[in-house]
Amino acid sequence: MQVNASLRKLKSMPLNRFSIHLYLRFNLTFMKKIFFFLLFPLSIHAQPVVDSPLNIILLIGDGMGLSQISAGMYANNNQTVLEDFSVIGLSKTHAVKNLVTDSAASGTAIACGEKTYNGVLGISAKNMKLESVLEICEDNGYNTGLIVNSSIVHATPASFYAKVNSRKKYEEIAIQFSESEVDYFIGGGKKYFTEREDNRNLIKEMNAVDVVKSFKAFKKSDADRLGLFTYNDEPPSINEGRNPLLADYLTATLDKLDSRKEPFFVMVEGSQIDWGGHANDINYITSEFMEFNNTIDVALNYAKNNSNTLVIVTADHETGGLAITGGKSNNFEIVAGFNTLGHSATMVPVFSHGKFSELFAGIYDNTQIFHKMIEALEIN
Ligand SMILES: [Zn+2]
Repeated sequence: MQVNASLRKLKSMPLNRFSIHLYLRFNLTFMKKIFFFLLFPLSIHAQPVVDSPLNIILLIGDGMGLSQISAGMYANNNQTVLEDFSVIGLSKTHAVKNLVTDSAASGTAIACGEKTYNGVLGISAKNMKLESVLEICEDNGYNTGLIVNSSIVHATPASFYAKVNSRKKYEEIAIQFSESEVDYFIGGGKKYFTEREDNRNLIKEMNAVDVVKSFKAFKKSDADRLGLFTYNDEPPSINEGRNPLLADYLTATLDKLDSRKEPFFVMVEGSQIDWGGHANDINYITSEFMEFNNTIDVALNYAKNNSNTLVIVTADHETGGLAITGGKSNNFEIVAGFNTLGHSATMVPVFSHGKFSELFAGIYDNTQIFHKMIEALEIN
């Protein structure tokens, strides 16, 4: 009797909230399935139209081998933003004749896709002028940028626009830069443009570019082509007070590129990790790495919010033959040793994130970084 009574009670109960929710959920799933089948053919056709062109942010840590990354990571409380990259490769850095490369030959390999002799920029071992990925992007309607904390005529940035047989021909490289089509630039080395043997003032000659005098003015300008010389000569190290920071420069430049709603290619160089290696100065290396690490973070965040962006972080070579030979794990204090005042021929890592990042997995020659970027631009 008691059982029957409770059954009757249950039957007469109105649909409670939970059952209404279940009913709706079933019907929504069903409706979603119908929509899916209805919309699927449409989405296949719609894909190429909504897919925007690929942006590339290439970050080069000059002289940033695995030991430099490890030392910088420990100095940064055992953390680096590089841990957020899922695709990792290794690049073979040797030049045409020398096993140990310099920044001109390796910069040319990364920028233009061919190995060449040490000291040579943008010219192949067979004496052919090479087109860089930046120039190819320019030809295809891209906006471009170069942001460095060396002079803008230094070997790594120059690999992207210059064609000279010696990286030391700074005044000639400056002429080639002034004639290039780079849209946004930030770097040192103003003197190569204004205090010249030929008495030319290249900044005046660059009348299509708004060359501003301060970072404040850079942020304020809405010119289509814009540049900032940060220092007359080479910029000082971060420990000597270099300011503003590379991350701020990249943030400001990405703001401008983003607002133009056109695809872009940007190369950012953490130039002085290499100089810390040449000085065999571990504090110089770790402080420069930490600034570069923050800059990588800016690029990575941009890519996380803009799915049509590919971020690549690599080095042109290792500098100093750095090894971490001791230390304490409670505070990540390290003991470092160096093998050379120059570069070494060890492989360097390539970290990538975003669209087509999977192309950069594996072990390959540094020239492949160029070819993989071109492949990504072509298949997009
Ligand atoms: Zn070097």
